[in-house]
Amino acid sequence: MIVGVPIETVPGERRVALVPELVPTLTKAGLEVVVQADAGAAAGFLDPSYVEKGARLEPDVFDTADILLKVQPPTMDEIGKMKEGLTLIGFLQPYTKAAEITALAARKVTAFSMELMPRITRAQPMDALSAMSTIAGYKAVLIAASRLPRFFPLLMTAAGTITPARVFVLGAGVAGLQAIGTAKRLGAVVEAYDTRPAVKEQVESLGAKFAKLELETKDAEDKVGYAKAQAEEFYTQQQQMMFKYLLAADVVITTALVLGQRAPILITEEMVQGMRPGSVIVDLAAEQGGNCALTEPGQEVVRHGVAIIGPTNLPSTVPFHASQMYARTVTNFLTHLVKDGRIHLDLDDELTRGPLVTHQGAILREAVKGIL
Ligand code: NAD
Repeated sequence: MIVGVPIETVPGERRVALVPELVPTLTKAGLEVVVQADAGAAAGFLDPSYVEKGARLEPDVFDTADILLKVQPPTMDEIGKMKEGLTLIGFLQPYTKAAEITALAARKVTAFSMELMPRITRAQPMDALSAMSTIAGYKAVLIAASRLPRFFPLLMTAAGTITPARVFVLGAGVAGLQAIGTAKRLGAVVEAYDTRPAVKEQVESLGAKFAKLELETKDAEDKVGYAKAQAEEFYTQQQQMMFKYLLAADVVITTALVLGQRAPILITEEMVQGMRPGSVIVDLAAEQGGNCALTEPGQEVVRHGVAIIGPTNLPSTVPFHASQMYARTVTNFLTHLVKDGRIHLDLDDELTRGPLVTHQGAILREAVKGIL
């Protein structure tokens, strides 16, 4: 079977779904790898490095691929070029790309959405979302540090002592913990909060302080580790209790998400108004609507003297390592599906069934059908 790796066509996307070092893993599994010319160039992987590792270069891969590896969801145009019965693996954004999912089903594509990988120990090497969150958390801090009109570290200079920046991280999952670690390494004083009490220890082990909010968070986590949605009044209480942390912060990094739902609004306009002028909010929940009421996805706005930045594709700004990490998760998943050079689907296997969105003309996810 031929594995095709196309160039990503979404504007601003610099990642590629397969890096040269992983070509031999696929050829050893009995697959042939065809890469579209220039597919890895924006991430720093040039065509000859793929050829050296055993891939073939083609001007287009859609007419030959039996298995297609992508980063972004395919466009309608790309779906139109796919072979019937193709196996597709990528971030398919199944809850928002309803028309594309319908078109994939109509084309009888077997489509796997990396976002839907189950959170079980066995699936950890295929956990693309966590890999990308690590990058987002790191980059959010760098953006904040370069935007802030202050230093991050404590400095003792002949021109006087500089006090360290105070960073408040809201949501200490994968992205939040990486943000805490990065901010600490830059010398900031870091505080963090998460509704899942289990996180307190992880926050403290990174040298940050866990913010003490007197909120009832017993039922905060579902059985796979995701935060559960809370009632509106919980969020209102949380806003009130967090206010003092925001007033003290120079930088706020927000990452609070609830799976499949709009991100909770945890910072109101009134709270922004109370923050010090020159402070920076980097809202990593921007794509899911934002944790700050004033966030505009993909934009930087200044309101009440506070810069509010809502980046939407940070992993693409670190394209070399983002591609390497993503490609590892995708390759681990693909080799899980392949036996003797062919795809074998075991639909009783949670790991195969979990991310499967369309198969043999049907849409398999109830939640996606609901949206349609
Ligand atoms: P996420 O991206 O869905 O959410 C980010 C964080 O926001 C979470 O920690 C969540 O608790 C927090 N949050 C939600 N509402 C909040 C609120 N109102 N206030 C403050 N914080 C709020 O989550 P994630 O980062 O992908 O992962 C969450 C956890 O799951 C992590 O602890 C991670 O270790 C675990 N995990 C396990 C696996 C696995 O076992 N395979 C894979 C990935 C993640």
